Amino acid sequence: MAGRRIEMGVIGRPHGVRGLVHLHSYAADPAALPGYGPFETEDGRRFTLRWVRTGVAELTELVDGDRHVVADRNAAERLVNVRLLVDRARLPAAGAEEFYLADLVGLAAFAPDGTPLGRVDTVHDYGAGASLEIGALLVPFTRACVPEVDIAAGRVVVVPPHEIVVAPAEAGQALEARDIRAAATDRHRTVDDTPFGGGAGMVMRPDIVDAALAAARGGSADLRPAVFLTPRGRKLTQAMVREFAAGPGLVVLCGRYEGIDQRVVEARGLQEISIGDYVLSGGEPAAIVLLDACVRLLPGVMGAAESAEEESFSAGLLEYPHYTRPAEWQGRRVPDVLLSGHHGAVAAWRRAEAERITRERRPDLWAAFQRGVRETGLHGTAVASPAGAS
Ligand code: SAM
Repeated sequence: MAGRRIEMGVIGRPHGVRGLVHLHSYAADPAALPGYGPFETEDGRRFTLRWVRTGVAELTELVDGDRHVVADRNAAERLVNVRLLVDRARLPAAGAEEFYLADLVGLAAFAPDGTPLGRVDTVHDYGAGASLEIGALLVPFTRACVPEVDIAAGRVVVVPPHEIVVAPAEAGQALEARDIRAAATDRHRTVDDTPFGGGAGMVMRPDIVDAALAAARGGSADLRPAVFLTPRGRKLTQAMVREFAAGPGLVVLCGRYEGIDQRVVEARGLQEISIGDYVLSGGEPAAIVLLDACVRLLPGVMGAAESAEEESFSAGLLEYPHYTRPAEWQGRRVPDVLLSGHHGAVAAWRRAEAERITRERRPDLWAAFQRGVRETGLHGTAVASPAGAS
């Protein structure tokens, strides 16, 4: 791949009157971006950059060994949407199961039966998963949709998303609801008793809950983890949902009253999970939340229109905002960049919005995202693994 260039950033609108620019970095750690320079542009110019604050840079053009700082707004204006490229050979090798997005562009795409589908025209990455544009097809860069990538042979195998959408029943979903009272032994079908140590409310008995769990399980060959929904549990996250969805299924225990005797929770190794910092009257609505979050990730449930790869939490960022027609509604215009037809600029805007929203609304997620970036040292949107790779 020597001689190929990777887009490491794109210049945005001017900032102030002194030639500073907003700049979107495709490096996982934007702070490291200047170190990849000097950057080339498509028309053969060369630039270095220096961050002056987050997302705002000073550019210096290199001309015959001389350095010219971009020092006024007009010069900066002329650089809007200019892509900053570096030679592929200067970047570290991508790891196993990782690909530089630029290496995917131009690959010949084939359906699993060998039918040619065209070439990868563009790779979109909005910060939460990449998609390959192949003619009129937009294919999520996931294991399910792109099961084979052979850079050396210059080809990818693509399963168009609509072909992997199957009816929920075919996707192997099954839900069995059970009544814990069926495990009761008295004629009143009692499942609870007063708490030891006193206090308000009732507690569900361990022997009854245990019998109900045993009845729900298919014996020792049943490997499904069991979950107890409780406000005291670990808070449900998309990562946990992904893990559950990839597993053999779940046995979910819903509490009522004050909750369940702790001994059965411990004895049966129940994972205690909360859906949020509030108290419901029973675990059933929480079970529906958990169920819905898992089912939509099962293979074949979602089509291209609803790709899980581009959603909030999937890559540690909240999702960017969405807009559709009309372009102007009640005096509010869709952001110009979305109407520009410039894929790089759209990607840059979406990524910047995802980062801004995450930073503003969820400092906890933002801190975790930045930690992940520092620890993996990956080149952000310049590198992607097919989602779903183990
Ligand atoms: N005494 C419990 C406490 O303060 O932690 C609250 C019990 S709540 C009234 C009854 C049941 O609703 C719980 O056992 C649990 O199954 C369910 N539940 C309530 N809030 C929940 C939440 N945020 N996440 C998961 N389950 C919840």
